[in-house]
Amino acid sequence: MALKALDIFKLLPKTNCKKCGAPTCLAFAMKLAQNQVKLADCPDATDDARAALEGAAAPPIRLMTIGRGADQIEIGQETVMFRHDETFYHGPGIGVIIADTLSDDELAAKVDAVRKLAFIRVGTEIKANVVAIDNVSGDPDRFAAAVAAAAGLDIPMVLISSQAAHLDAVLETVADKRPLIHAATEANVDELAHIAKKHNCPLAVVAEDLESTAALAEKVKSAGVEDIVLDLTCDSMLETLEALTAARRLALKKKAPGLGYPCMTLSRGDNPLQNVAECCSFVSKYSAVVLTTLSAPEQILPVLTVRQNVYTDPRKPIQVESKVYEIGSVTKESPLMITTNFSLTYYTVEGEVEASRVPAHIAVIDTEGTSVLTAFASDKMTAENVAAFLNSEEVKSKVSHKKVIIPGYVAVMSGALKEESGWDVMVGPREASGISKYLKTVWQAA
Ligand code: SF4
Repeated sequence: MALKALDIFKLLPKTNCKKCGAPTCLAFAMKLAQNQVKLADCPDATDDARAALEGAAAPPIRLMTIGRGADQIEIGQETVMFRHDETFYHGPGIGVIIADTLSDDELAAKVDAVRKLAFIRVGTEIKANVVAIDNVSGDPDRFAAAVAAAAGLDIPMVLISSQAAHLDAVLETVADKRPLIHAATEANVDELAHIAKKHNCPLAVVAEDLESTAALAEKVKSAGVEDIVLDLTCDSMLETLEALTAARRLALKKKAPGLGYPCMTLSRGDNPLQNVAECCSFVSKYSAVVLTTLSAPEQILPVLTVRQNVYTDPRKPIQVESKVYEIGSVTKESPLMITTNFSLTYYTVEGEVEASRVPAHIAVIDTEGTSVLTAFASDKMTAENVAAFLNSEEVKSKVSHKKVIIPGYVAVMSGALKEESGWDVMVGPREASGISKYLKTVWQAA
């Protein structure tokens, strides 16, 4: 929970000395509550006040990393229950569980399949960014072979085994990759906490219920392991969601120190649809590592898509650069279409132009990331700014004709745009799905 200004004010010296640059202690407290200043800016704060404020200001869910280097992931440090309250900051690791019972050939094929779980969506690469190796065989050599194969993926790993000795052995070779160790239970907590501390790796804990999980996490922490992940997988999707939600709520309220850690889930069900539904739900609420036994692209893509959609700042629309994009082998005679710089709008239009196989220019107007109708209604897409764009040097250098296709939804601006720009204005389809037919028929007949 964020600290309130009055709570902070009560802990300050209240001398209004201005050494911090603020006119009063209350003004400083208000800025501190909004993270605009640091407590260190007040030289007269007492040690007790510092301890109280720093403790209260500590993130309710610990931030930690799994993996090392360019592909390491950060999880935790979330601050709200609902994305629209602020934003969700650290997207979960999403990955495939590989059983070490696979033959060498099957293992190589599975690792290759995981490597290919990368897609481009709205101009951004989304990919499976974790891999888990499950010591189902109970054989240390098979486990080591599977871990070695998966290590070649160079993405963060989760090492799953109930055998402390097997985990300890593979960590001798891959600890520098900082894998997540799964998982400490009541039965093995002392051994696994020792191994996690020895190899400086994060450790997952799993117990019967939330209370026991929190107690186990506290035990691991008291053994000297700071980076802990709570495995809250239950028997059913509903129970898991309830556990994830309760853990997030209690963590944000700082009611249970043992729950102030990122959570994880494992979906092992045989029904692919159920498994995908579980993973998508767990990404939304509030799993920080989502593992599944599925690995087909069409099964993983929906899960990655949910992550991409949920882990964006709702206050900042995703935008593309305002400029003229060339789709296909354009010439100066190719059609010129207008759209906005809202990513979803642009990439929808781009996809339809590509599918039409008619090379075309897409002129993207800066509408502050709003869609066509919103931009028009809020005067971010006007005859004046579109005309200015059409008559810019950039457009002149790329197009020799003076015919522009505008979205059908803003047909009403065609007269004003023609007058303002001097261009012939063609009204395109209302929906992007009509672009292909439009380019092949109306444009080519024009
Ligand atoms: Fe108050 Fe500290 Fe700022 Fe002085 S330096 S005005 S005591 S907050």
